[in-house]
Amino acid sequence: MTLALTVLGCSGTHPGPQRMCSSYLVEHDGYRLLVDCGNGSLSNLTRRCDVADVDAVVLSHLHPDHFADLYGLYYALRFHRDGARAVPVYAPAGAPAFIGRLLDDLDTFTATCRFTPAQAGDVLRLGPLTVRLFAAAHPVDTLALRIEAAGTVLAYSADSAPTPALSDAARDADLFLCDATWLERQRPLPSAVHMTAEEAGRQAGDAGAKRLVLTHLWPTNDPAESAAEAARAYVGAVTVAADLDEFVL
Ligand SMILES: [Zn+2]
Ligand SMILES: [Zn+2]
Repeated sequence: MTLALTVLGCSGTHPGPQRMCSSYLVEHDGYRLLVDCGNGSLSNLTRRCDVADVDAVVLSHLHPDHFADLYGLYYALRFHRDGARAVPVYAPAGAPAFIGRLLDDLDTFTATCRFTPAQAGDVLRLGPLTVRLFAAAHPVDTLALRIEAAGTVLAYSADSAPTPALSDAARDADLFLCDATWLERQRPLPSAVHMTAEEAGRQAGDAGAKRLVLTHLWPTNDPAESAAEAARAYVGAVTVAADLDEFVL
């Protein structure tokens, strides 16, 4: 059985003309895990499956480009044509109150999106998936993910500056989906809370990851330039994520 990753959004901070914000569908043995739910990504999700077919959601952190379309998912489930649905949502502590601030019916929101607080060190057993959580280096609590199924490993940095925790999360991973917001030539960086493509390459090499997929690129950066920069620091295969790309591991 294979582990399949579909990119539903891979733009950093705000959407671009062809890229929505962070969201990834991970499928194995009929189970569907949605990792992050950034702005615009719900449209891509609905091109792949019915919203009711999502078995669980993990939010890496509480920045809008990673959760904004949870609002849309909430309404799509609440008013689903086959009747109201619910989905478990694993997210850093405080998520329901933080996200629910824009909503006038917190009870219905939390009955639909059933939150469980998650933190670094947790191991989530989600259907056939084992999801290990690591502490990314970002200004708010941010969870990097190591997703394991049937001996296959998919790692996701979430948003992060370089940190040894990512090497642990992506140790010998079959695919490492890594923040590569910036380019080295853009130093001094507008913010030191993400990585350049070269830093992503270095992290992938440190981890011994077998394949690197760059994501969360700044929307106006050239993907080819990012790929070339990462390849300077990493000997394995480098791909830049694009919306609706599929990777079968
Ligand atoms: Zn982000
Ligand atoms: Zn962030």
